[in-house]
Amino acid sequence: MVRKSRRAKSVSTTKSTTKAMKQKFIFVTGGVVSSIGKGLTAASLGSLLEARGVKVTIMKMDPYINVDPGTMSPFQHGEVYVTEDGAETDLDLGHYERFTSAVMTRSNSVSTGQIYDAVIQRERRGDYLGGTVQVIPHVTDEIKARAYEAAQGSEVVIVEIGGTVGDIEAQPFFEAIRQLRSEVGMENSILVHVTYVPYIAAAGELKSKPTQHSVKELRMIGLQPDFLVCRAEKPIDEALKKKIALFCSVQPEHVIAAQDSRTIYEVPLALHREGLDDRVVKRLSLDTDKPDLKGWQHLVKVLHHPERTVRIAVVGKYVDLKESYKSLHEALVHGGVANHAKLEITYVDSEKLTEKNAAQALSDAHGILVPGGFGTRGVDGKLASIKYAREKQVPYFGICFGMQLAAIEFARNVCGIRDATSREFVGDGGRGNLVIDFMEEQRTITNKGGTMRLGAYPCDIQKGSKVEQVYKATRISERHRHRYEFNNKYKALFEKKGMQATGVCKERDLVEIVELPDHPWFVAVQFHPEFKSKPLAPHPLFTQFVKASLQRQKVLAGVEKRTAKGSGVLAESAKKEARA
Ligand code: GLN
Repeated sequence: MVRKSRRAKSVSTTKSTTKAMKQKFIFVTGGVVSSIGKGLTAASLGSLLEARGVKVTIMKMDPYINVDPGTMSPFQHGEVYVTEDGAETDLDLGHYERFTSAVMTRSNSVSTGQIYDAVIQRERRGDYLGGTVQVIPHVTDEIKARAYEAAQGSEVVIVEIGGTVGDIEAQPFFEAIRQLRSEVGMENSILVHVTYVPYIAAAGELKSKPTQHSVKELRMIGLQPDFLVCRAEKPIDEALKKKIALFCSVQPEHVIAAQDSRTIYEVPLALHREGLDDRVVKRLSLDTDKPDLKGWQHLVKVLHHPERTVRIAVVGKYVDLKESYKSLHEALVHGGVANHAKLEITYVDSEKLTEKNAAQALSDAHGILVPGGFGTRGVDGKLASIKYAREKQVPYFGICFGMQLAAIEFARNVCGIRDATSREFVGDGGRGNLVIDFMEEQRTITNKGGTMRLGAYPCDIQKGSKVEQVYKATRISERHRHRYEFNNKYKALFEKKGMQATGVCKERDLVEIVELPDHPWFVAVQFHPEFKSKPLAPHPLFTQFVKASLQRQKVLAGVEKRTAKGSGVLAESAKKEARA
């Protein structure tokens, strides 16, 4: 499949402007501090409008200079979220897709890097001949054109601006939305400012001053918010709402309290209780029904009252930063919901795991997952955990790197290929048994940004396999983000020794899924199913992995029951035996 060039393309401003006039715009900005939930506010507002029958899309404007987050470390930026059309984007796009049915594409994600890239390309082509290229109007025009482009086909477009008001890099974006608001008419646009109202324990009070300051900052650049979503640890009472309203020139009923909640999936319901969607549709003169929130209500009920708990170990190297495995974490939670189970997810540091301590470290886990990853650090620990899962019949789910390593572990320990490895570990000149090797088109690629195999590709599933039961289909489509692949040279040997390639991309002859038919649940996939799981539509692979883990839990409980009848020492050793 030929992909659209990832380099920023220029969008004709005037043409898109007239076309997009019928859309309503909701801008979401942030104040006081970052990480207060602008993305979740945008996504939740999107879900509420959708629940009222409004066709919504959401876009993110990121002020950093990188063209996209694809080359940023997960330590710095969190997860890189991949869209159907292969854009590497900010993790907020994951929230947008999980909370709404809007399909994200590369036009839903814009960065300063892309904007400047497009403007500079145009300048080199000579499109501005004779003119001086400036932030206003050239850069701001390009930003507006992107917003109009993303808005096509929707009634409402929610535009989230990354960072916090006052950030130097974000200035052109704020200026662009100031212009855009007057272009589309103030009656067709809303500015929702998400702010933080800190609780000062010494005074025993919530403080509104930082919110006042950030609104002042907005006003200085010509932007007046219509709504304030105030994030706080404690409830915000009416008196404080009135005070904030007065100081910030916002209607008191447009001051929305967003108190910390137990799960992110409560946010749409909480914002609805505060009247956010009611007032937004009124302010935008949208004629809608009352929202149907039954799905969200059921979800929250299950999350708060699970029938059982199951333990999953995720073995990776970004254990301190849950943001790095955002979609994966959420997809596991969804799989739990589908089984009415709460998941205790433990992130196990692969750098600390060895073949010797794996049994001990993972003995409590009812399921083991090795997620996507890059580089050699922590690989031995991941291989040890896969070996443990394979040998001890613990459900195993390998994703991308977790699939490649499952193949290497199998080659080394079952097929007897002791030096089995991946091209990623040995480099271009590396020799030996490269069970995982370059994809053909990757051999000549030198640029790092946007050059992996990215986005959705089809996969054919073998009849009678475990994954056929999972998907209940023989042709699926999943999203990818990788440079290396399973080396078909080893396929026949693997199948003879008991690892089946049950999913293949026929068009390219690439192995996409391997499984062990003689194991309770050992499935490893080259793609990233976590990007397509939604709380109201859990991905079947996660649902079935959790189900298999619950089964494992039952087996262990059975052993414990039987051994409990025996004498203390004997019972303990029998339990250990079952686990280790
Ligand atoms: N590092 C591996 C590759 O590039 C796997 C990538 C991933 O897990 N996303 O193929």
